[in-house]
Amino acid sequence: MTPEETQRYSRHFSLPHLGVAGQKRLKRSKILCIGAGGLGSPALHYLCAAGVGTLGIIDHDRVELSNLQRQILYNVKDIGQLKTLAAKSRLLKQNPNIDIIAHPEKLTEKNALSIIQDYDIVLDGTDNFNARYLINDACCVLGKPNIYAGVFQFSGECSVFMPNNGPCYRCLYDTPPSISPNCSEAGVLGVVPGIMGTIQATEALKLALGQCSSLVGKVLRFNALNLTFETFTLSANPDCPLCSNGQSFYDLSHHHSQELCTMTSLNNDASTSTIEYITPQALKTLMEQNSDFILLDVREPEEYEECNLAGLLIPLRELNLRHHELDKEKSIIVHCRMDGRSLQAAEFLCQIGFPTVKYLKGGIVAWAQEIGDMPNISIPL
Ligand SMILES: [Zn+2]
Repeated sequence: MTPEETQRYSRHFSLPHLGVAGQKRLKRSKILCIGAGGLGSPALHYLCAAGVGTLGIIDHDRVELSNLQRQILYNVKDIGQLKTLAAKSRLLKQNPNIDIIAHPEKLTEKNALSIIQDYDIVLDGTDNFNARYLINDACCVLGKPNIYAGVFQFSGECSVFMPNNGPCYRCLYDTPPSISPNCSEAGVLGVVPGIMGTIQATEALKLALGQCSSLVGKVLRFNALNLTFETFTLSANPDCPLCSNGQSFYDLSHHHSQELCTMTSLNNDASTSTIEYITPQALKTLMEQNSDFILLDVREPEEYEECNLAGLLIPLRELNLRHHELDKEKSIIVHCRMDGRSLQAAEFLCQIGFPTVKYLKGGIVAWAQEIGDMPNISIPL
């Protein structure tokens, strides 16, 4: 350790579990932060300041003005720049003693294993479920600890998934939970990812120092409005397709990228959904018979105005707040433009206990092609 480093890290040296030996351990650590946004900004700042020897940053986005409300790595001069490069330049000013590796690309099934395998610890700072499943699966395959956090409006949650020791992200969410808009849709108070990202950095430093994480088998939930931190036990799901004993989706000793494709596609594939569908013709018949059902349109008001089937309009993003407007006793047929949003909505309604939910296969587009006739009755929006 150089004299400069000795002075720089002097506040660490008298700490139990740290000292000079711990500092050297941090210097040898390689931590990958996936996503350099609201969570990654504080996490990377503190990991850099603490002297983690190698920090990887993966992100394919460029800095936008709307990021600056919470992504404290960036300033107005960075707008339009790749986040990885702007972050690297900022962090090296804070601590020039460390190596920062920028991966200005999107994490995909094809590159996940080859990128992650070079690091000891992974921080998941992404904001969507597909990325989180991909990171979880790749970390399980490679045996890397995965420090996860998610934020939503005024709340956040965090957990640490250790391969072969405790639950994984798929044990927490076996399917994408209900309706899950990201920050751009739902909004987020800027300090919430600041707090959660700092907690991720805390757990990463503990793991790098050889300490146990306090969040293995637990989920920490933070609520900024009433300022509470609550910890819940998270048990491994015995039916988890990824981490349950003897049923591993992967052959862990012979991983290859094709397996990751198989696993992550599970979450997007309408053909694997258990939700029943109804064809436009069958829906037309039900309408003609005046059957007692609710036709739920989960598109946006502008789309509804253009054309509609006289269904009840509740946009998908509002469904988690407005599902009580639907009568649970009645069967529900959901539609959107095609199948994407209706399937999400139908799965959500099933999860929260609606007994009979179907979706219109092909949506209003299929209706227009097969039936043609559009009631187009306006209802107050
Ligand atoms: Zn699992």
